[in-house]
Amino acid sequence: MGKKDRHLPRTAFVTLRDLPGTRVLFWVVDDCPYCGGRHLHVAGNLRTADPGESLGEYPAPCDPARTYDLAIPPRPKKKQGKDVRRRERREGKRQDWDE
Ligand SMILES: [Zn+2]
Repeated sequence: MGKKDRHLPRTAFVTLRDLPGTRVLFWVVDDCPYCGGRHLHVAGNLRTADPGESLGEYPAPCDPARTYDLAIPPRPKKKQGKDVRRRERREGKRQDWDE
């Protein structure tokens, strides 16, 4: 119940998804830093500007008193050895969003 908790936004990693049949893009938070659940944020329209502009601080849907900072996770690079394996293991528990 410290002040820090309430005022420091946590980082929430997002994946950009489009909604099939629409032109709407969403930032999908797969693992909410507060509730561990999934949240969607409208990132914009496929035809409009850079969805990256809609990243940033948002109130967490599960707790509107708190905010989190939407950010794109670092991408693993294929050329690395150990690091890739470690990252892949971590990502293995994620759901497969790509078809
Ligand atoms: Zn949440």
